[in-house]
Parts: sequence; C-alpha cells; structure tokens
Amino acid sequence: MFILLMNNLINQIEALQQISQQLNPSFKEREKLNQQVREFANNFIENLENYPAYVEGNPDFNKLTINSIKKDLAEILAIYNSEVVSKGIKPASGKHLGYVPGGGIYTAALADFLASVTNEYAGMYYASPGAVAIENETLNWMKSIFGFPKDAVGNLTSGGSIANLIALTAARDKHKIKNEKIPKSVLYLSPQAHHCIHKALRIIGLEDLKISILELDELSKIDTSKLTDKIEEDIANGLNPFMVIATAGTTDTGAIDPLSAIGKIAKENNLWYHIDGAYGGFFMLVESKKQLFKGIELADSLVVDPHKGLFLPYGIGAVLIKDKEAVFHSHHYTADYMQDAISADLQINPSDVSPELTKHFRGLRMWLPLQIHGLKPFIASFEEKILLTEYFRNKLTEIGFKVGPQPDLTISYFWYPSAKIDENTFNKKLVEFIHENGDVFFSTTKINGKFVIRMAILSIRTKKATIDTAIEMIQKCLTQTKEAFSIL
Ligand SMILES: *Cc1c(COP(=O)(O)O)cnc(C)c1O
Repeated sequence: MFILLMNNLINQIEALQQISQQLNPSFKEREKLNQQVREFANNFIENLENYPAYVEGNPDFNKLTINSIKKDLAEILAIYNSEVVSKGIKPASGKHLGYVPGGGIYTAALADFLASVTNEYAGMYYASPGAVAIENETLNWMKSIFGFPKDAVGNLTSGGSIANLIALTAARDKHKIKNEKIPKSVLYLSPQAHHCIHKALRIIGLEDLKISILELDELSKIDTSKLTDKIEEDIANGLNPFMVIATAGTTDTGAIDPLSAIGKIAKENNLWYHIDGAYGGFFMLVESKKQLFKGIELADSLVVDPHKGLFLPYGIGAVLIKDKEAVFHSHHYTADYMQDAISADLQINPSDVSPELTKHFRGLRMWLPLQIHGLKPFIASFEEKILLTEYFRNKLTEIGFKVGPQPDLTISYFWYPSAKIDENTFNKKLVEFIHENGDVFFSTTKINGKFVIRMAILSIRTKKATIDTAIEMIQKCLTQTKEAFSIL
C-alpha cells in the first residue's frame, strides 16, 4: 500500500517536473533566447538616431494582454517593439532634450543581467557579503566626491523620490517632529523644489507642517538675505524651525542654490540641511563647476540620482546621510525570523537604511560601468554636455530666438520673440509643431508667467550633430508657426 502511494507520488512529481522545467531553460534554449534579445538590443541601438525622440499615440492594449498562453519570443519582441519602444518619449535617444533625459549606459544593462542571473541578495551583508560590499563601496565613492565623512550612511534607492523620502524621514526623526509638534514646525523651501519633496512630506505624515516658501533671486536661486530674519521671526512667534532644503540643479532651470550660505544659516539655527542634487550633483566632478557646489559638504543629507547624473538606466537613486541613528530610527528593524542575519557590524545592511528589505542588486549597475570605463569618460561627458548647451544657446540666438540667462549646468530655456502675436500664444503653437514633428523632443515650462521651451542636455548620446538636427527642426517648425498665424 505504502509503496503504491509512493510510486504514485513519484509519478506525479515527474509529470509536473516535465512542465515546471520550462521555467529553467536549457543551455541550448538559453542560447536561442540570448541570441534573439542580443539582436533586438543591437538593432535598437544601431537605429536609435533614425527614430524620432517622441511619437504621440497609445499602444494597442489587446496586444499587451496576458492570456496565459505561451508565445514565441520573436512574436513578443515584435509586440514590444511596436507597442512599447515605438511610442512615447524615447529616453535612450540622444534627441531626448526634454525633462531630465535618461540615456542609459549599455554596460549597466549587462550588470542588471548579471545581477538577475546570479540573483544576489543585496538587502543584508550576511546573505551576500560581496554584493553589499559593492553597494557600500558605491556609497563610499559618493561620500568622497561630496565631502561626506566616512561614517555617514547611505542607500541606493529606486530613484531620487525615494532617496528624498529617506532623507526627510531621517530629518523628521532627528528633530522628533510628531504629534502636536507638526503644525508648529517649519520647513524652509524654494518654490523650485522638486514636487517629490511635497509627496514625501505627505507620505511621512508631515503634510500639516508649516512650509515657508523662500524668495528667489533673478536666477531662480534661493535669496538667503532674508532667511535668518525669517527664522528668527518664526521662533519669536513660537514656531519650531527644523529644516531647510536646497537644490543643486533645479529641474526647471538647473539653478544651483547658494549651498554654502544656506549651510551656514542652517548650522547657526540648528536646522537639518538637506540638499537635492538629483539632477545636478555629479557635475561637481567637473573642475570648472566645483565652485558652484561649495557647501554641499555641509548638508546633513544629500540626494543624487545616478540614473540621471551618471547616465545609468532608470532605477537607481542615492541618498547620503550623516546621522546614522536618525536613519536607523525608522528603518533598522529586527524580527525573530531574521535572527540569523544579525552579524557583527562589519558593513551597514542596506535594509537598515531603507524601507526595502529584499531588493534588486542595484549596486552592480553603478559599480560595473565605473569599473569597465573608469571615471574619465564620465567627466568628459559632463563637460561635453555643458559645451553643447552653450553651442545650442548660441545657435538659437543666431536664428532669432531669445534664451534664458546663462545656466549653471545643462538646463536652459528659450522662446521666440514674436512682435505681432502674443508671445505665449506663439510659443505654445510652436511647441505643438515641435511635438508633432517629434524628431527632437523638448518640454516646456513657465518662467515668471512666461511660457518657454525648455532644453535639458544629459544623455550620453546627445552629440553636436543632435543639436544641429534640433536647430534644423526648430527652424522648420518656426516657419510652420509663422504660416499658421499668417505672419510670414
Ligand atoms: C528628477 C528629480 C527628482 C526625482 O527623482 P526620480 O528619480 O525621478 O524619482 C527629485 N529632485 C530633482 C531635483 C530631480 O531633478
């Protein structure tokens, strides 16, 4: 009887194994899959510059349905190409000059592949000492760039938003901002601060904080002349100033706030000093720009975004925080089922510095490109982008456009000074033609109520030829706009 049962059991297991084995392709099957994906990737990259940077339109949702029936990879790749890659903004393209462009270094994709195949557990040192050592090494490298002490902690996050969230949580816990203290506590903030700061405040229960919006100078940087007075006035009114946030490269105009001056005021008034350098931070590696970043080392917490500033593919941000205990207050946790993981504190566990426990091994996608390429081509790329911005602005001026003030980095704006038609109306129409054309992609913004076209140059693939193409396209669209208003 027992033998019969066992035989039955074995037969069932073997039958299931026949099917489940499909999830673990053989060498031959893997080679075929690899070959198809490699070909797709090569085709994509080789033809990238022939595609427009922006295509309007929706995917065919039916083609994307999951119907539980297996399909051939070739068929799936065809759908991926037509419904995903061929629609919307193309972040990998050098002709994406809107928002903060993505780019994406190829060697980081290889790192993602390796990280997924080996599937290292990068949440805790105990589980993968090497993976965690790599993550911590990338953080140590950033600490040394930004003048943070060795004993600062940090984390590789999914992006700048979560990095900011972790920093603000630490500031909250350090200053014990809770309960009845919340509505009395003051955060000093630029109107140009990224909206993820406001989101983070809501998430961490600080929605009812007093937010004191700071005044800006004519270059959209925080005007510090009245900041001390403001703080003193708030204290006199029984309020509790506890944090000031500066931006090193605003999203709108790329402006770097006066980091040193704000740092000094923060120290004098015992405020937590947070700097959001998601877009601009890594430009500090450029010798001629170092001066603008003076004071970044004064921050209690700093955010940079390697998926912007280091040209990596989407999915990696970083936060550095000086006060370890402040971070641990919310994120360090022990549970019975993790008792094996308590090791001598050789290395910080990423899971003690982040809401995440299990996570993608992000460190590899930053570490591997830095190892393969060295630092030099990164710095050359930063310098190249700065010069391309200057080249673009000069070209625009040549063809009759007005440009915004000399930018700190690689974000700037321009508009056409139409004499006969209201300028905002004219430039909105111009952007419609630019988006319809789509060859090169731009976003727009408002500067002091004025509608302007915004350029952001930060893709590894943006070259001089890209700017020349952009100028050609803009000229074409300018003619169309003039025709539309019958002012040719
Ligand atoms: C992009 C950006 C963010 C948000 O980062 P994500 O990586 O998109 O989450 C925050 N602050 C600044 C200044 C940014 O440019």
